[in-house]
Amino acid sequence: MKSGKRAVRLLAVLTAVFLLLPGCLPSGPEPAATGGSGLTVYFIDVGQADSALLLCDGAAMLIDGGNPSDSDLLYTFLKNRGVSRLDYIVATHAHADHVGGLAGALHYAAAGIALSPVTENDSRAFENFIKALGEQGVPVTVPKPGDTFALGGADVMALGPLSLSAEPNNTSIVLRITYGSVRFLFTGDAEREEERELLDAGYDLSADVLKVGHHGSDTSTTYPFLREIMPRYAVISCGKDNSYGHPHENTLSRLRDADVTLYRTDMQGTIVCVTDGRTVSFTVERNADAETNPTKPSADEEEYIGNINSLKFHRPSCSGLPAEKNRVIFATREAAVSAGYEPCGNCKP
Ligand SMILES: [Zn+2]
Ligand SMILES: [Zn+2]
Repeated sequence: MKSGKRAVRLLAVLTAVFLLLPGCLPSGPEPAATGGSGLTVYFIDVGQADSALLLCDGAAMLIDGGNPSDSDLLYTFLKNRGVSRLDYIVATHAHADHVGGLAGALHYAAAGIALSPVTENDSRAFENFIKALGEQGVPVTVPKPGDTFALGGADVMALGPLSLSAEPNNTSIVLRITYGSVRFLFTGDAEREEERELLDAGYDLSADVLKVGHHGSDTSTTYPFLREIMPRYAVISCGKDNSYGHPHENTLSRLRDADVTLYRTDMQGTIVCVTDGRTVSFTVERNADAETNPTKPSADEEEYIGNINSLKFHRPSCSGLPAEKNRVIFATREAAVSAGYEPCGNCKP
């Protein structure tokens, strides 16, 4: 059994090395996308905005497309992956940070079904989306709660909106996506009012992966909603140093309380989630080791301090620490070793 254990450990180390060295990834995170069974979800880094591309058994769904300035990014993202057909294109709600880049996607890919909670909105971004759809002769479909759609082998159900609020965020199309025994929940920018309606409707909201509502704003991801979902993983799409202060500490704290593993586009770039219907795995564009939802460090959590000149790493208590300017901090011992650093002979980290 010893060699088996060793093999497992070797595999774990290799996986860690792979995750720690984004340079190993050919062009951003790129696990098996299409062809073969499996569901791949790209949470595309569109800054302070939202966009996710789902590929399943050769079928594709785009949920939101970032800001108008992300049009080129969306165009290129689809082109690089050869996604010339979007079986579904979803505008969760009419805000520019969700519908803005959809026109760019439509300039590359042909759309099947276009979902939106409204058919009209006087924003330029929404009008451009409708115009691009019109050029393809695709009408807007307003989904009804409970409507289902097939995405390859995945089942997609529209849970909301259950009513049309005057607040566009609370008109967000909420999608529950089930592949095998793995579930995803996408809530757009739904805030507490829409969350309450979803709870009152009595849906089974349980999901393995939650795309956190409204970029991690305190107005979303209420405790009762989170308790029904009980996700293992959550993804927040937001921009670094955005003017809204997203994600808000209250939301982060609720996610910590729920013991959720968090991924963030502002810290980690594009995030890719792959599932075979049983297991779920994530890869990120950068900062795989980032503390995405840090609490105050407890006494037993220790960092390691590397010397960029000697390539040795130390415990913080070591008497032989390098000068501040020559330090690099590693969150884990593994991170230091993977980066090619050797343990100090004195403090023996
Ligand atoms: Zn938004
Ligand atoms: Zn919004």
